[in-house]
Amino acid sequence: MRVIPRALAVLALLLATAGAGAAGPAVPPVAEAQLEAPAPSAPVARRRARSVDLDAPVTALPGKDYRQELQRDIETVTDRAQDAALDTLDDLQVPALVRDARPPFVLLGAEVAAGTAARLAWQPEESFEGIAAATPVLVVNGAGDGPVLCLTAAVHGDELNGIEMVRRVLYDIDAQQLQGTVVGVPIVNLVGFRRASRYLADRRDLNRHFPGNPQGSSASRIAHSFFNEIILHCNVLVDLHTGSFYRTNLPQVRGDLRRPEVVRVAEAFTSTAIIHSPGATGTLRRAAVSSGVPAVTLEAGEPMRLQTQEVEHGVQGIFALIDQLGMYRKLRVWGNPVPVHYRSRWVRADAGGILLARVELGQKVAVGDLLGSVTDPITNLRADVVSPYAGRVIGKAVDQFVHPGFAAFHIGIATRSADLGTAPRGEAQDEDERDDVDPGSRDSLEDS
Ligand SMILES: [Zn+2]
Repeated sequence: MRVIPRALAVLALLLATAGAGAAGPAVPPVAEAQLEAPAPSAPVARRRARSVDLDAPVTALPGKDYRQELQRDIETVTDRAQDAALDTLDDLQVPALVRDARPPFVLLGAEVAAGTAARLAWQPEESFEGIAAATPVLVVNGAGDGPVLCLTAAVHGDELNGIEMVRRVLYDIDAQQLQGTVVGVPIVNLVGFRRASRYLADRRDLNRHFPGNPQGSSASRIAHSFFNEIILHCNVLVDLHTGSFYRTNLPQVRGDLRRPEVVRVAEAFTSTAIIHSPGATGTLRRAAVSSGVPAVTLEAGEPMRLQTQEVEHGVQGIFALIDQLGMYRKLRVWGNPVPVHYRSRWVRADAGGILLARVELGQKVAVGDLLGSVTDPITNLRADVVSPYAGRVIGKAVDQFVHPGFAAFHIGIATRSADLGTAPRGEAQDEDERDDVDPGSRDSLEDS
């Protein structure tokens, strides 16, 4: 046994001599071919997600230490507990220890262990902006089996209510009590969010480019990356939006009600108006449904604002959905479990001037009811905007200057799903959808 230290001493001496350079024995040169040889193809190493306690307050500001910690893989709490348990056991008993049977949830090349929460990052491959903007992705992976529910917000960068809904839902769930997985992307369009803009940096609407194309425009490539990296891993998708451009929406779920799987998701929100809308081509939810992921849009409030009432309604609805999916029990009482289905029509101002609304969101209106007035500030001529429909105000413009033809009031007309027919095959657009959009500003009204 005493030979070993001596051998080590000799080895150390040899190494020291070699380190002295010219004085020592020549170091064999590395063949050039060896330098240029491609690295052997190893399987892509999957990193284990850092487990973060989503309830814990953030105590340190992002800085050098924080970045260093981000680069380190940290064992999960569960792993440490298992290691501690292993340490106390005799070696012979180890095989008898049953590990958690549920496999980790894999997303973005990371594994999130069952019963833990993690923060991941999605970065579009084909985007210059993406170099600076890795989008945070929150994951709560439940201890028990269940579906993967995905929540996406701020696909339009100026729509803030959904960001807060995602935060409240994801930080309110205890992973140990959850069956299945909840994935939350609070700010999909980080570039737009930073500029307080609805659009991407090139003025394109990301929500018209799904499922995307890896060889297409910048928007199309970003959409393709997001769709493949995140959306195709979901079993149910809720895309959170608000009204657009000085318009506000009653909290409402929009979906293609000709599809039973979408109706089931929409109705689970309870006490929330449901609007039939197949969704414009290129919208996230339409592309998701086409790929077999039942999806709805949850609209609430207006852009550029954080509205606590709308946020609370959305959070209640999402928890009702989570409950209906059998993923999590939360003691919340919310009446009127069967929501009304609507189709919808826009009512336009025929005159230009100052628009002043005379109805509130959610108000019921009859044919001929006064919705608002438009007054010419120069001539003082006033024109009334009257409802041609009986229904409920589900969206409206905030008071502002308008031009003739401006879509000012969105009226929901109660309907039965059976009256909507069945979804056509392929991408053909139906009559409902064409009527639903404003041809002059398609972007601003359909799936706002
Ligand atoms: Zn939107």
